[in-house]
Amino acid sequence: MTREPGGTRPLPALDADSRPFWESCHRRAMAVQQCASCRRFRFPPRGLCPYCHLGESRWVPVTGHGRVYASLVVSQPPATAWKDAVPFNLSLVELDEGVRMWTNVTGCAPDDVRIDDRVRIAYDAVTAEVTLPRFTRAADGDDRDAAS
Ligand SMILES: [Zn+2]
Repeated sequence: MTREPGGTRPLPALDADSRPFWESCHRRAMAVQQCASCRRFRFPPRGLCPYCHLGESRWVPVTGHGRVYASLVVSQPPATAWKDAVPFNLSLVELDEGVRMWTNVTGCAPDDVRIDDRVRIAYDAVTAEVTLPRFTRAADGDDRDAAS
């Protein structure tokens, strides 16, 4: 397991299944794995489709826009590595493409995040190799892909 430089927080492990996802985040152009057979998205990335159990897949760029599906404030550090980070926001963001991912909504107070808030991706390069997809709330008129 790799860790943030100068810190102790764990970083995602890049394996054969997840490497394309993390590389797309590092290029600041997030792509999500899609089953080549049934066309459903697979997240997190994995070798076999959980719906049709076939292995073929492709990587589809996503808009980086979505909404807050669930949100909470972490007040107690889950491990000592986060003792200086609390309180922080932990949200389940649903991309406009339908994929849900646990992430952080940043740029506002942790408890200012509300269900259904429109958000957009804010890439956070934490190391030379790893860029984490975090999100910020979309400003009014700054969310091209919002449903009208
Ligand atoms: Zn499938």
